[in-house]
Amino acid sequence: MRRLNLILLFLLFQSAAGYCAAPPYELYLKGNLSQAASAYAELAAASPADPRPLMNAAICLKQAGRYYQASSLMTRALERAPENPDIYSELGWLRFHLADYTGARSAFETALQLQPKHSRAELGLASVYANLDDKKRTIEHLDNYRQLRPDFAGVDYILAWNYMNFKMYKEAESSLIEALRKDISFTEARLPLAGIYARQGKFDEAWNQYYRVLDYAPGHPIASKMMKILEGKLSKQPEEIRPPFRITKPLVMEPLDALENLSRSVKIRVGIGATNTGKQGRNNFLRLKSFEGLTVTGKASGKLYATIPPDETWTVHHDGRSVLLKGPDGKLHNSFQGPILVKPAKPGGTVIFDASSRIKNPWFRGADRQYRGYVELSPGSRGIEVVNVIETELYLLGVVPSEVAPQWPYESLKAQAVIARTQVLIRRSRGGIHKKQGYHLCDSQHCQAYKGKSIEANTTTRAVVDTEGEILTYHGRPAYTFYHSNCGGWTQASGEVTGWGDSPYLVTKPDIDPAKAQAPLDPWDYHLWLTGNPDANCNYPGRVRASEFRWMKIIRQKDMTFRVNKDYAVGELLNIIPLRRSPSGNVNSLRVIGRKKTITVTKEHLIRNLLGFSSLKSTLFEIEINRFKDGKVRNYWIYGGGWGHAIGMCQSGAAGLAGKYNLAYKDILDFYFPATKISRIKYVKKSGK
Ligand SMILES: [Zn+2]
Ligand SMILES: [Zn+2]
Repeated sequence: MRRLNLILLFLLFQSAAGYCAAPPYELYLKGNLSQAASAYAELAAASPADPRPLMNAAICLKQAGRYYQASSLMTRALERAPENPDIYSELGWLRFHLADYTGARSAFETALQLQPKHSRAELGLASVYANLDDKKRTIEHLDNYRQLRPDFAGVDYILAWNYMNFKMYKEAESSLIEALRKDISFTEARLPLAGIYARQGKFDEAWNQYYRVLDYAPGHPIASKMMKILEGKLSKQPEEIRPPFRITKPLVMEPLDALENLSRSVKIRVGIGATNTGKQGRNNFLRLKSFEGLTVTGKASGKLYATIPPDETWTVHHDGRSVLLKGPDGKLHNSFQGPILVKPAKPGGTVIFDASSRIKNPWFRGADRQYRGYVELSPGSRGIEVVNVIETELYLLGVVPSEVAPQWPYESLKAQAVIARTQVLIRRSRGGIHKKQGYHLCDSQHCQAYKGKSIEANTTTRAVVDTEGEILTYHGRPAYTFYHSNCGGWTQASGEVTGWGDSPYLVTKPDIDPAKAQAPLDPWDYHLWLTGNPDANCNYPGRVRASEFRWMKIIRQKDMTFRVNKDYAVGELLNIIPLRRSPSGNVNSLRVIGRKKTITVTKEHLIRNLLGFSSLKSTLFEIEINRFKDGKVRNYWIYGGGWGHAIGMCQSGAAGLAGKYNLAYKDILDFYFPATKISRIKYVKKSGK
């Protein structure tokens, strides 16, 4: 139905434009930017009073990197609409990026006269004053901007960026801390903060910040290098700077009968300690224990090799070919060339891996990890491979709170439980992408996040129990229930993204109450929508971080050139142009023009990983290129929306639908996966029980 509406709107637009060929917005989405600009220019000639075609043509040219032509079109649009503050503001930005600060200032000032609280004009004016070295006015206008976008981490980041340029490090430090409070994953803010600490001689704090960068951007070259440099200067042991999370013995055993039904479900195999690309980290050794005691048996032989008493910690080591089991005294107990099973000695017990900073896999370094079911350990080529064998429903108890916040509206937790369960079925039935590694799913976002028992929460456990066995189906078969953290206001159809297949229920639609849906239907509206703070199910202040819905970063030319050349030898960067976009605005094709070579990147994860050292939260972005007077690139301003691939269910939007509109989980699933239905799988009871 929504799809039909969109098509109708497109047709309306077409007939209004009097076009028989592709409408200009379609040309824009396809990345034919010059053609789109000409088509809009023709429209402008046909209707001499209408400013909008000129504004649209300007946005197309701007995206193509032709800022001079864009600004002259914007000036012409002003002749048709002299009272429009948005046009003045955008003209100001074009001039700012062309290093015409006097021209930019007058455009921003006019915008603010026409509309006193214009947020982009406030930011623009601040940026102009920063370049004119006027500290007082820069900060004054940034403060105004902060009042207009209070939850947006980008505000504090830009403030900090300017404080650092003014060498006001104390102020920069507090702005960066504020940015990180609003967006914990803001790597670009963490790096300068670490730099400030190092400059002040606070080496422990600096080291800690670099360490945390690696949480979000594993292998980050600057952070890794700096940590090595700082290691000799630390006043404490790394474990004291970052004490690991320890699991303590529960005072009361949980009531087993409540979970009895769940433990009748089908067992699955989950690869533990994987990175976001789905590969298991290197387990050179592991520390094992259980509050209930453990048994160690051979998988093939079934032979009992060891009984580990409650609370006693043993270790397993990898010597290149086998797994060595050592007792608490460090003495070798056994050595195994094949898989072994480590099982709790009592029903309902768990296996615990004690954290240690000497383990190479970061998953087992910063926190103790606790698993229901049992664990299979095998000698692999790179280390000990860890698989958690666990009943589907018990696994879900750890998935739902790893994927969404347990304090979110209850119906959205149930929706998450149903689609996570459906994912398990899909992965099991196809043998899965991890077939070679010998498990059905890994425990990272690559499949779905699963942090084990210690993250379980009452609300999410109840959501799993209340939906027990329920999955989403399409024509009687499990549906591909993809999901993502935040779509940014518009979901993407799977068919639009390279390599995602085409499922009829994975559709593109505005993530908003259909009654309010007003889709951007031209480049101008799209630009205002992305750089503004529009209404959407996933724009849900108080429940969803504003920094997941809208974000920004500024990347220096030097850093961007270095990053791109790591993957593609294009030489000095000259331009970056988003070409093809989905109707949702997500970039599906990105052109990067270097002095030596031009490349086009089309894969979702490659586009996200290319622009900066930590990957972009999504492909829903615009990029503005800021240049010096001589035309050389100074830096890149990226304005983005959403977190994740935007296909299937928007988790933040589900929270919004449940919390803002009181939708039940069935209606939420119907909104994101139209034409699917909920079916119930019956788990076969185990024989003898
Ligand atoms: Zn995976
Ligand atoms: Zn959304």
